[in-house]
Amino acid sequence: MIAVVGAGTMGHGIAQVAAMAGYRVVMRDVDREALARGVRAIESNLDKGIRLGKVTEDERDAALQRLRGATSLEEAADADLFVEAVPERMGLKRATLREVEEIARRDFVFASNTSSLSITEIASGAKDATRVVGMHFFNPVHVMRLLEVVVGRETSGETAETARAVGRRMRKEPITVRDVPGFASSRLGVALGLEAMRMLEQDVASAKDIDTAMELGYNHPMGPLRLTDLVGLDVRLAIAEYLHTALGSETFRPPEILRRMVAEGRLGRKTGAGFYEWKE
Ligand code: NAD
Repeated sequence: MIAVVGAGTMGHGIAQVAAMAGYRVVMRDVDREALARGVRAIESNLDKGIRLGKVTEDERDAALQRLRGATSLEEAADADLFVEAVPERMGLKRATLREVEEIARRDFVFASNTSSLSITEIASGAKDATRVVGMHFFNPVHVMRLLEVVVGRETSGETAETARAVGRRMRKEPITVRDVPGFASSRLGVALGLEAMRMLEQDVASAKDIDTAMELGYNHPMGPLRLTDLVGLDVRLAIAEYLHTALGSETFRPPEILRRMVAEGRLGRKTGAGFYEWKE
């Protein structure tokens, strides 16, 4: 059985792919409303899957039967794997691990879906740090195929293999990454995005032409500036600042244009304007 802790953007997606993979799943959120929203989002994703011919009605019904929502962690006491997707705060991740240790009835693996925090730090002080690992899914979870399995200092080979095996059963493609800031995906993705911004600042080409260079020249499905608009410029700035300090590399110094646009409230799609205008 898999317990997913947190039913937000990522938690409900992880619970969905776990139930679709045949696992019994308990999805827990402390907020009753958030839990209900998470369950509704799963139902609506599966219904959309049926309309697109990707999911059968039987598969949807079976997945929903395997899934249970809960506001108390006690209901997940029998889980073999806990995947946490609570908000990105070190204190909260560590407290979640403590709470799991208190209620768990069997040996378990604890996986964190953190996109930036250190797995080694989350695991420090754990009863068994060898069983703590990162399982970094991507948004939207039921669509994106990558799974970064992040190996902390104490994580055992067996734990990493469990995370990869579960990921494969969820139809993800796992990659294995050492626990360093930015893991593999954020470090490379952010570096490309920041260089694209510097090129725009230096008037090398327009935003659209820079994006087209990557889309047509390198087969990226989306250029780095458009992607930054979707992620949010404020989110990208926070990650760049963190990586600049943590890795001590000038590659991640936030460009002026990024700071200026964030100060002006041009955060990308969510505010209607970023490197592009967004009308919805
Ligand atoms: P979110 O805010 O959408 O959801 C978090 C949920 O956790 C909320 O519903 C909240 O009520 C719940 N929660 C808070 N405390 C809890 C507790 N003690 N027990 C159970 N539930 C609790 O956040 P999100 O975007 O899903 O992000 C979750 C994690 O996933 C973060 O670590 C984030 O960095 C990571 N992540 C996010 C994305 C993304 O694109 N959003 C991508 C990859 C990884």
